[in-house]
Amino acid sequence: TKSEGGTPVGRGAGNELLARYGQSLMGVFGTPQRVLVRGSGTKVWDADGKQYTDLLAGIAVNALGHAHPLLTSVVTSQLATLGHVSNFFTSPPQIALAERLLQLAEAPAGSKVFFANSGTEANEAAFKLARRHAGTDESPRTRIIALENAFHGRSMGALALTHKQAYREPFEPLPGGVEWVPAGDADALRAAVDDTVAAVFIEPVQGEAGVRGFDDGYLAAARQITREAGALLILDEVQTGIGRTGDWFASAPVQPDAMTLAKGLGGGLPIGALITFGEATSSLLSAGQHGTTFGGNPVATAAALATLHVIEEQGLLGHARSVGAAAADALGALEFVTEVRQYGLLIGFDLAEPVAPAVVQRALDAGYIINAPGPSTIRLAPPLIMTEDELRSFAAALGGIYASATQETA
Ligand code: PLP
Repeated sequence: TKSEGGTPVGRGAGNELLARYGQSLMGVFGTPQRVLVRGSGTKVWDADGKQYTDLLAGIAVNALGHAHPLLTSVVTSQLATLGHVSNFFTSPPQIALAERLLQLAEAPAGSKVFFANSGTEANEAAFKLARRHAGTDESPRTRIIALENAFHGRSMGALALTHKQAYREPFEPLPGGVEWVPAGDADALRAAVDDTVAAVFIEPVQGEAGVRGFDDGYLAAARQITREAGALLILDEVQTGIGRTGDWFASAPVQPDAMTLAKGLGGGLPIGALITFGEATSSLLSAGQHGTTFGGNPVATAAALATLHVIEEQGLLGHARSVGAAAADALGALEFVTEVRQYGLLIGFDLAEPVAPAVVQRALDAGYIINAPGPSTIRLAPPLIMTEDELRSFAAALGGIYASATQETA
């Protein structure tokens, strides 16, 4: 095996390399599917030189595609200028990003941003925020409401909010007080929320649950219900935020008490953020109650600023809406696709047969990276620069991919 840049990844290694070194990795989803060595725009290449159209963008991450020239130069020059400072200091990109996020979120005076490195860490901070909204001795707020099928991450606090029993079970007892209500059901939420509730956590579109959004008015109802009960509304926009759904935030114009961001924010660099809206909410968590050494480091925050800049400059919000809608039309026209759920460039669709994992494999063979959040469900979350032609080509190829997947599993 040749060595490239000090790692044992060389051309021609491919699956042979995976077989040889793969066992040393504790993969989150088991053995990784391919060794990817290079990316440019909407394309990536594996160690055998095979090209893929990246319809997943590292799960809703690479908003500008791969190796975007501005992102590359900003990250390189920031690293050459100042790479890391620790929490005892701040840096110009960190301050500028905090201000820009508050501006985009139209956050009122007294709002703040806490930086982390991932969605999980941002939600861990939000969970602590909820715990600090504890009410009084006479009227304690001990309950936290989340939605059925919610995914908020896998640290102990974030996992406490995540609904999936298979993820939770090995780690029970998790931090307590969390209850789940049916997703999208405003009456169920209204029935559950009273002055014993500290916070309600909602993903505006449940990505891991198969890309499932809610009827118009649900988030506004959640806002009203929580406000009346004095509970915090905390929106997890980790997957949906920063342009993914064709808006800066999928929840707009509803304004929460706190919002978490990650994934697409850094354009590919690891970053997370918790925005707390208004003085009262911002003062719930005080200095030292949550922290991380790398959170908000100059390189990641500079990358995020460059990402926001390019999204705005190139009109990628409108682009995500229009090409996403075109893709949904093309997918919806396929006879084996039973439902399409499209929010900008976050797209879920259901197949007539429960062959989604096989479809993912055959799509890889055909040069497309997609993902299956359920047995019959496919998710696309491509770079925001993905073209309509590329999405239409995928839809055109899907017939053959589906046919071979159903044959294989028959
Ligand atoms: N919240 C939501 C809505 C997510 O979709 C995810 C990841 O899929 C997370 C939180 C966890 O984020 P991370 O994987 O960056 O820790």
